[in-house]
Amino acid sequence: MGDTYITGMEAAGGSTCICGQETRDEVKTCKRCLRGQHRSCLLQAFYMPNYECPQCQLEQLEPYQRVLQTLIPASLVQTQGSGVGPRYFTYSQEVHQMVYAKERKRTVQIRSIRLDRSGFEQIWAKACQVIVNGAEIYTASSDLGAQHSRAMLVLSDLQPDSSVSVQVLRQRLDDSYAFAVFLVATLSPAEALAALVQENRVMTIEQGREFVQAVGVSTDLDSLNTRLSLRCPLTQTLPRLPARGTECKHVKCFDLEAFVVLQESTRTNRWRCPVCGLAVLRPVLDKYYAAIVHKAKSSQRLRRVEFLSDGDYHLLGDSSPLPPVSKRHRSAYTPPSKRSKATDSNSRYLYGY
Ligand SMILES: [Zn+2]
Ligand SMILES: [Zn+2]
Ligand SMILES: [Zn+2]
Repeated sequence: MGDTYITGMEAAGGSTCICGQETRDEVKTCKRCLRGQHRSCLLQAFYMPNYECPQCQLEQLEPYQRVLQTLIPASLVQTQGSGVGPRYFTYSQEVHQMVYAKERKRTVQIRSIRLDRSGFEQIWAKACQVIVNGAEIYTASSDLGAQHSRAMLVLSDLQPDSSVSVQVLRQRLDDSYAFAVFLVATLSPAEALAALVQENRVMTIEQGREFVQAVGVSTDLDSLNTRLSLRCPLTQTLPRLPARGTECKHVKCFDLEAFVVLQESTRTNRWRCPVCGLAVLRPVLDKYYAAIVHKAKSSQRLRRVEFLSDGDYHLLGDSSPLPPVSKRHRSAYTPPSKRSKATDSNSRYLYGY
């Protein structure tokens, strides 16, 4: 992940788990970093398909804020009175220099995720405190709106060459959370796009074809996946970099560049697929879809596609009717009242027809 990327997992007392302890509990291995986590520490997340460990999830929460260095690796948020002490990191001269470097914005950031759900979303526990060097820098009461818990905290005014203690405590024993402290670089839209493309998650033509067959002609056959507009729901033009999320179950793609640029001005519900509303932090580029778009470009008229049960397709004119969007896709969206203005103004494009 870049030349200055250093992992801090080794600091966790020999164990790579968020609990930092060596136990005999069954271990689940992360498909991204191959580190193990205990079943008892992960709860339901242990059974999630496409599992990635809390450390990997925390690292990938915000593509505009790229993790350069782990200062405190993913750690369990403790309940008050558990007797577990704070975690520490050294705020070195080197890190301090990076934070103050002019050409790039660098910050020390605390992030938190909920472990019981499919993660990849910044969220603080409902009633929690973040204590840095003994001082409370953040308190979330249980009645705070969701908006407040979506912010990653920035640690500023740290003393160079000092040891910094960080403790995240929650009052209620409901969900399970993990936090981590990172040195991050703020990227420009072009850099964020380049970093995502560089990760090289690509569906080959053959895989793209199989995907069409799998999602379009499965038992929960969805008309959205058999006949659709090729236009990006964000730009209303043919996508240059057709992509969707790793969890998306629809054929329709959006343009990755337009999507990344849009997130910069979006404050809430960021990195949500404009087609289905699921989190898209690790977009996959679809070469099959790109080939179809390329073919459609040969004509001013062909902007729609119909897929056949074998994954093959034929192009249709812009005026041929499309089926209505299914309820299943609609329900993945947050209600309009919870959307930001930026998202709202784009909502008429979201279904794109
Ligand atoms: Zn553990
Ligand atoms: Zn991992
Ligand atoms: Zn989607």
